[in-house]
Amino acid sequence: MKIARYLSDDANRVRCPGLQFNDLASLAAGVKEVVYTSIRDRREAAALDALCADLKFKKVILGGNRSADAAPVTDLLIGTSAKKLAAAEKAYREVRSGEWGVSFEWGMSLDYPECCVRSYIAWHTGNGGGDLIRHIRGLSPAGTTFPFWMNNVFNYYSRLNTPLARREYLAFSDLNRGLDRESIVPWHPCSYMCAATLKKGWLIYEVLKRLMPRTAACRRELLSKPVVFRDKFLFAVLNGRCGPSAGGFGVAYKGLAAPRSLLAAGTEKALSAVEALRLSPSGMITSPRKLRLPEGCFVIPFAP
Ligand SMILES: [Zn+2]
Repeated sequence: MKIARYLSDDANRVRCPGLQFNDLASLAAGVKEVVYTSIRDRREAAALDALCADLKFKKVILGGNRSADAAPVTDLLIGTSAKKLAAAEKAYREVRSGEWGVSFEWGMSLDYPECCVRSYIAWHTGNGGGDLIRHIRGLSPAGTTFPFWMNNVFNYYSRLNTPLARREYLAFSDLNRGLDRESIVPWHPCSYMCAATLKKGWLIYEVLKRLMPRTAACRRELLSKPVVFRDKFLFAVLNGRCGPSAGGFGVAYKGLAAPRSLLAAGTEKALSAVEALRLSPSGMITSPRKLRLPEGCFVIPFAP
């Protein structure tokens, strides 16, 4: 199977750096027919051309753009359906020429679930400065844990909406150099229990697990832990597990886990000094009462 040359734990596998494993796995799983990606130079262009020829993907060059770290890149679409690529190209050009920077057609042309596209647009147009993660948590049911493949806390695509956020992203990336923090699902769900994303995300994970089991296992571990969340770059991953407890949840943990955020050292220390939290069904920390955290923190109970 040719896809195994590109989705593999082998360190010598062929790499197209701009193309995420989750996007490629989505194409392999049939969850997506179109993927939005980018290249930085001729070498990456040649590697992507070879991949498309090998896997019989079609390609459309969109034009120049900037990556999250401000490097010049060329945007591209690859996929299995020429008709869908043409529709996606049309939607992309409309987004780039408009002032909104977001469109229903563009999200749909990338095969994201309709509920998630509508929810992302509602956040984008009505957002009063709150991060997308807070928006999604607010739309998620209380009283349940969320499967690890729904965890998008470390996925900053389409969330770096201010110059400050882009600067903080560079600081965050520096802190976590070398860590694989790619999500399983290459879009943002409308809720951590979105039925469409639960189903499609599992199919993507199955492909990753079959073709790159070590990488998939590392991702599962990284994404399975409860997160104390305050803002885009202010969060702490608790090195432990969440489970039912009287009237809500408990988290038992030992210290913090990767990735590191830009949270104040004092807050990290306070969380590390505790080994158990009690939570309300909506994730508010109810004990220990002596634990002093900045206002607005809540726990997102991701689980294996
Ligand atoms: Zn959804």
